[in-house]
Amino acid sequence: MNIILLGPPGSGKGTQAALLSGKLRTPHISTGDILRAAKGTELGNRAAEYMNRGELVPDSVLIEMIRDRLSQADCAKAFILDGYPRTIPQADALVDILAGLDRRLDLVLNIEVPDAELITRLSARRVCKCGATYHLIFNPPEKEGVCDRCGKRLYHRDDDKEESIKNRLSVYKKQTQPLIDYYRNLGLLAAIDGSGSIEQISGEIYSVVKARPE
Ligand code: ADP
Ligand code: ADP
Ligand code: ZN
Repeated sequence: MNIILLGPPGSGKGTQAALLSGKLRTPHISTGDILRAAKGTELGNRAAEYMNRGELVPDSVLIEMIRDRLSQADCAKAFILDGYPRTIPQADALVDILAGLDRRLDLVLNIEVPDAELITRLSARRVCKCGATYHLIFNPPEKEGVCDRCGKRLYHRDDDKEESIKNRLSVYKKQTQPLIDYYRNLGLLAAIDGSGSIEQISGEIYSVVKARPE
């Protein structure tokens, strides 16, 4: 299955994509992780200027990045997109990219969480270079400051500071929220209540995925 996780920053896309990826044995593609991993390269440095301000990196950069990633062998059967698309032009480009691969989208999971909860989640988020995500209170690692999955040190993202968080939420409303109607009109949208526990939400997502014909 070809799945998109949609939702505001802090809604749990990364957390849920990682869990679903494990259950379905399907690659988890996070554009935020790819951009952060490019740190030090020309692309990474250019992207970081936008990211630190809480703005979107230009569509042309993301579209080429996703075209490249989805053409790789591990995505040949299925993928889970986390953080792409974030604009209508990115969604339109995805249609073309998939058509070129003789594929199409199956499902868009829209994770809904109230704004106040998003700020609480983002301000205490800690992440690892391996893509794992934690929360100081709601989802702490076993050993403080260290990743359960790979043992590296966790860090606080530059864009998870108050000013940047506020800007990201307003950028989401202006540029990404229109995708909800876009995918609803295509009959691909499933709403997920993202305010319960990580395990509850993961269970709900799995049952929605399993109920969809492939
Ligand atoms: P996104 O990828 O949508 O920005 P994340 O998966 O990184 O969201 O989650 C944001 C923060 O909220 C992280 O610190 C994560 O550990 C925490 N989190 C994720 N899901 C939940 C949940 N259901 N309840 C409480 N905290 C959560
Ligand atoms: P979040 O946890 O807020 O959902 P991500 O890790 O997905 O954050 O993305 C971090 C930043 O990377 C974004 O604020 C944006 O600057 C950039 N980015 C990631 N994906 C995209 C995209 N599809 N289009 C434009 N910018 C993106
Ligand atoms: Zn790790």
